[in-house]
Amino acid sequence: MARNNELWLSGNEAIALGAFEAGVKVASGYPGTPSTEILENLSKYEGVYTEWAPNEKVGIEVAIGSSFAGVRVLSTMKHVGMNVAADPLFTASYTGGRAGLVIINADDPEMHSSQNEQDNRNYAFAAKVPMLEPSDPAEAKEFVKLAFDISEEFDVPVIVRTTTRIAHVKGLVAEGEMLKSGVEPGIEKMPAKFVMLPGNARNRRKVIAERQQKLETFAETFAYNKIEMADVKIGIITSGISYLYVKEAFPEASVLKLGMVYPFPKLMISDFASKVDELFIVEELDPFIETHVKAMGIKCTGKEIVPAIGELNSFILKKAFQKESPALFSPEELPLRPPNMCAGCPHRGLFYSLKKLKVFVSGDIGCYTLGFLPPLSAMDSCVCMGASIGIAHGMEKALGLEAKGKVVAVLGDSTFFHSGLTGLVNVVYNKGCSTVVILDNRITGMTGHQHNPASGQTLMGEPTHSIDIKNLCHALGVKHVVEVNPHHLGETETALKEAIEFDGPSVVITKSPCVLLPEEKRRVKQPYTIDPKSCTGCKSCLRLGCPALNWVPVTEQQARELGFKEKQKGYTRISEMCNGCGQCAQLCKFEAITRAGEESA
Ligand code: SF4
Ligand code: SF4
Repeated sequence: MARNNELWLSGNEAIALGAFEAGVKVASGYPGTPSTEILENLSKYEGVYTEWAPNEKVGIEVAIGSSFAGVRVLSTMKHVGMNVAADPLFTASYTGGRAGLVIINADDPEMHSSQNEQDNRNYAFAAKVPMLEPSDPAEAKEFVKLAFDISEEFDVPVIVRTTTRIAHVKGLVAEGEMLKSGVEPGIEKMPAKFVMLPGNARNRRKVIAERQQKLETFAETFAYNKIEMADVKIGIITSGISYLYVKEAFPEASVLKLGMVYPFPKLMISDFASKVDELFIVEELDPFIETHVKAMGIKCTGKEIVPAIGELNSFILKKAFQKESPALFSPEELPLRPPNMCAGCPHRGLFYSLKKLKVFVSGDIGCYTLGFLPPLSAMDSCVCMGASIGIAHGMEKALGLEAKGKVVAVLGDSTFFHSGLTGLVNVVYNKGCSTVVILDNRITGMTGHQHNPASGQTLMGEPTHSIDIKNLCHALGVKHVVEVNPHHLGETETALKEAIEFDGPSVVITKSPCVLLPEEKRRVKQPYTIDPKSCTGCKSCLRLGCPALNWVPVTEQQARELGFKEKQKGYTRISEMCNGCGQCAQLCKFEAITRAGEESA
């Protein structure tokens, strides 16, 4: 059937289509904004096996295995996931594979949803693998297909780098030809290539050096490295989303657009530089292209004027180049909408209880990181995926008895499987006494509800074994493991106290599903309500920070009219957002909060 439809796709949807058209049969990755939707979309295509791996390292290892087996494979991750996956990636550069292996790496300039702002173009340089960088969804699709060809032609994993703007922006993408790998699937033993003992690795190191030369030559003729000559007063070398900003800000300038950001087309760069009066480099984040151009002895201007922090746009570029700022549209200031846990979120009960205990909370990456925000303010550190347990253990080992019972590690179920497990193994093995709280809400919440090893369902929508976290912790040697419903505040506080006091490692599993799960949304809610006549305005319930609880201030006259006590400044009201969790009702000593329809007399 002819494939000539034009589709309106996001960059991530286009990448999934590109992988499908490239003949990908296996895909493995870990969810992480802005890359998550790639595998979710790819899972909808017939004949492609997709999975959520417990972390990015496993995802790339699965990809290496599929490539060894002669099957085209995709692995996806956000930029920080590449740090986890770097170990297998660097050696996969040595082994190569058989069928094409392409890694999608999504960077997040401006840190819209990330804990740092690293520039993963540096990984391509360090691992000696090619990297392509599309400028729009149509290129994203094409580049994925090209990446598979490059991977097989040069026997190398290829990284396609996107950024948040490319991943989430929508554009027209034409369906294209279905490709097929020239490699036959099957098991082939190639020990000199696949077994990286030092003797073999030294030989492969030479192969990589030769490959690098060939890739540099290839970059000179790669069709998406292209020069667009115009006014020669200004020449700009750029790539990715920055290309669009350059075209918008300086339509008159000559441009060298790099579709392959590593390795560099050195001859093309020299040629372009020689044709323009002044050379500029426009790129987000690190001076990656700039450093290499300067290393070639070519005079250029880059980070001296172009910001190295955050995202760029055409306005920033105009200002950076000190051209007139266009008096175009200036966006209205929108009211701030600070992030908050949802009404009825089970994590709220846990953080409320932790705050009462005044412990140091070693937190982790997930929607529960919002426990940091006031009024809960119950998270004291958060570094990277799975780090909470190691950090808590390190504090205890550093301070000895002084830290006993004063540090609690908190992480979600998905994060526990990602890289918290090994931290807990370390606590048990090295005779630590950390208390670890695992927030088991049955899903990977922050990235939009991806299944994980405890969910009982795969990315393909099939039921599977749900790993029992309680039994797993017992099997690791943790003697004190309890499950608790975090909506029951008293029970939760008692469970935490007992765990903290336990002489040895302890685990508290807070078990309650995310309120945004479809089955939870379908559940008939029994919302709560507040009787203003009973409310004394003490604000105890507001300490939960539930967005369904609103403070209504009153004037002295209104207070008198409402029959309030003298000096009562207002009362609390519950909005229709209430999910009926009942946490606030447990905090009201005046019994002002009751289930709607069960109001106290
Ligand atoms: S509802 Fe209860 S806890 Fe909340 S402000 Fe009123 S009296 Fe205090
Ligand atoms: S019961 Fe209270 S805490 Fe729970 S969702 Fe409703 S208003 Fe929020």
